[in-house]
Amino acid sequence: MSQQPSSSSAGGLRIAPFTFEVTPPLGHSCCGGFVKSVEVIDDALEAVGVVLLGAGQPIVLCVVDWTGVLNEAHAVWRMALAEAAGTTPDRVALHCVHQHNAPFACFEAERIVSAHADLPHVVDLEYFHRCVARSRAAIAQALPRARTVTHVGSGQGRVEGVASNRRVYRDATGQVLVMRGSACRDPRLIDLPEGTIDPFCKTVVFFDGARKVAALHYYTTHPMSYYGDGRVTSDFAGLARKRRQQEEPDCLHLYFTGCAGNIAAGKYNDAAPERRPILTQRIYDAMVAGETALTRVPVPALEWKTTNVLPHARPSLNAAALAQMVATKTHSVLDRNRAAFWLAWLHRLEQRMPITISALHLGDVKLLHLPGEPFIEFQLRAQQMQPDDFVCTAAYGDGGPWYVPVKEEWPHGGYEVSAALCDPSFDDQLTAAMRQVLSDK
Ligand SMILES: [Zn+2]
Repeated sequence: MSQQPSSSSAGGLRIAPFTFEVTPPLGHSCCGGFVKSVEVIDDALEAVGVVLLGAGQPIVLCVVDWTGVLNEAHAVWRMALAEAAGTTPDRVALHCVHQHNAPFACFEAERIVSAHADLPHVVDLEYFHRCVARSRAAIAQALPRARTVTHVGSGQGRVEGVASNRRVYRDATGQVLVMRGSACRDPRLIDLPEGTIDPFCKTVVFFDGARKVAALHYYTTHPMSYYGDGRVTSDFAGLARKRRQQEEPDCLHLYFTGCAGNIAAGKYNDAAPERRPILTQRIYDAMVAGETALTRVPVPALEWKTTNVLPHARPSLNAAALAQMVATKTHSVLDRNRAAFWLAWLHRLEQRMPITISALHLGDVKLLHLPGEPFIEFQLRAQQMQPDDFVCTAAYGDGGPWYVPVKEEWPHGGYEVSAALCDPSFDDQLTAAMRQVLSDK
C-alpha cells in the first residue's frame, strides 16, 4: 500500500510550533510498570512539535518525552493531532525520545493487565487523554500564529563520548554474551570500542528571514543516564534540548532519537549522578556545533511520502503462553507486564493494523520516520540509499514492534533479539519501505 506523494512549489510555506506538558502524575507507572513508579518530578516531560502549512494538507511532526506510544494509543493520538491541524493521520509523525522514567502507553496492554489486580497499570488512561486534549489545544493556539518559512538550514555536529554499541561483547561465533547497556561498570565492556554508531547530531532549522523559528535535532542513543528510581526526568537528551530552548525562547527546539535499538551510553556512563550533566553538555555542544555550521537554502519544494507495512509476528510469540505468563503470580511483575505488551502486539496484528513509514523531503534534506526500536544499521542504510542527501532519522514512532534487529543479527541472540516482536522478514519490509519513501522518484 502506498499513497501518492503530495508536493508544493517553493514559497507559501508556514510553520506553527507548539508545545505542551506531558509529565505523569505521582504514582504513575514508569516504562509500563517495569520499573519503580513516579515518586518525584525532577524536571517536566514535554511534547514539542510543528505543523507545516502550505504544502498540500498540513504536516505534523511531534516528539514526546515518553518511553513509547504503541499500537492503538499511537493511532488515537495521531488522529487527534491530525484533526487539530486539519489534516489526515498519515501526514502526522508522532515519536518518543524514549526516556525510561516516563510513561509507556499501550491501551491493549493496559486492558490486559487491568484484569489482574496485583499488577501495576501500564498507563493511566485519563491522564493519557488529558495529554491528547492538551495537544489539540496547543495546535489550535499555534495555528493562528504560524510564521512564514523563507529558508531551511541543515548542519551537523559530532557528539564525542555518548553513543556506544550495546552488542560488542561477543564470543568467537558472534554470540552476544552481555549487553553494554545505558550504564556500565564492567571494565571488560567499557574497554571495548564504541562499535557501530552514528556519531552525528543532525540539525534542520526553519527560518523566517534571519530568525530561527524551529530547530529539529536528531541524535541516536538510548537517552538514559540512570533510571528506575521513580524520579521523572527528560534526562540528558531532554536537558540538552531544554537548555537550547531557554537560550532561544523564540525558536522551538525539538529532539528526535534515531535508530537506537542497539545504542546506549554504557561506554561513557556508569550511572553516577555527575555523569548526567556531562552527557547533557556533550549533546548540547553538538547541537550548537550543528547550528553553527548550517547550510541555508531558500525553501525547496516539499514532498511528504508514506507507505504502510504490515509486519508478521515473531513465530515464537504464543498468545496462550503470554496470557498464562501475565496471569501467573509467581512470575516477576516485569515479566508479566512485558508479556501483556507482547500479547497486545499479537492482538494488533490480528486486526491487520499496519504501520505507516513516512519521509518529509525538503529538497536534499530528508526527514525519515520509523517505528519501534530499530538497530543503528537501518539509519546508516537510509543515509547510504541517498548518499547526496542530508538524511535525518527519527525512530520510536509507533512502538508496537519493540526492537527491530537487522536480519543478520538474529542468529547472534542478545536481549534486543529476544525482545523483537516481528519476524526477521521485517528487515526487508522496512528497508523496502525506507527506499520507497526516501526515493526522489
Ligand atoms: Zn529501548
